[in-house]
Amino acid sequence: MPSALSLNHITYTYHSISKETKALSDISFEIEQGEFVAIVGPSGCGKSTLLHILAGLLPLQSGSIKINETPFEKSPEYIGYMLQTDQLLPWKTIYENATLGLHIQKEKHPEAFQRADYLLSLYGLEDFRNAYPKQLSGGMRQRVALIRTLVLSPKILLLDEPFSALDYQTRLQVSNDIGQIIRKEHKTALLVTHDLSEAISMAHRVIVLSKRPGTVKTIVPIQLTYTGESSPAAARKTAEFKDYFDILWRALND
Ligand code: ADP
Ligand code: MG
Repeated sequence: MPSALSLNHITYTYHSISKETKALSDISFEIEQGEFVAIVGPSGCGKSTLLHILAGLLPLQSGSIKINETPFEKSPEYIGYMLQTDQLLPWKTIYENATLGLHIQKEKHPEAFQRADYLLSLYGLEDFRNAYPKQLSGGMRQRVALIRTLVLSPKILLLDEPFSALDYQTRLQVSNDIGQIIRKEHKTALLVTHDLSEAISMAHRVIVLSKRPGTVKTIVPIQLTYTGESSPAAARKTAEFKDYFDILWRALND
């Protein structure tokens, strides 16, 4: 299986006039095509820094990144980035928000805009096409934010604690919805979360980072045996769930 994303010896240091903060140290790992990988680690260990580098918002200081075996700098592939808050513009309708990236990219093909409508109806938002963000629940807004990212056809999706602003009940539902959407669209995804249960229930593998400067402590492949349908709620009831929780908890805290 070719790797969709490979990181080799990534180190990152923030420089300011008064001090240097080493955020990441020698991070290496690979993600396969269509794989869903979660990253967990203590607060401040460099998780967001890593996603910022992958999204091109911070420079690559050392090490290398490849996308589909092509050096990151030369890769034509678009990397989608979804943040903690939905970042929808309150004065624009749901459709206008969903197609915002297309306008920014000066997309002219009507098919791209039709795809936005298709995704809105596929994921239960067709009745809200002309509504404004404040008329939607937090979970629905996160779905719009995901669709806005998906219409740009990203090869890889980066998600930085996308559910942490939602209450527990909504978070379960939305992580279920979003996990299903990502799988259905066959996206390769990298999810940062501080919630071990969320990581176990959504990911194929979980990467545990050490405290700052973040290093890869361990990578745990997840295999849950479902009796019925798979969902984040059902994941929590599988026989293996508690063992994975303990393994990750110990890895984080030792
Ligand atoms: P996480 O997402 O894991 O909580 P971050 O990647 O946001 O961690 O931050 C890693 C470390 O780098 C933290 O100690 C943080 O204070 C520091 N940091 C983050 N952004 C900056 C910045 N712009 N300038 C200086 N230090 C920063
Ligand atoms: Mg963060």
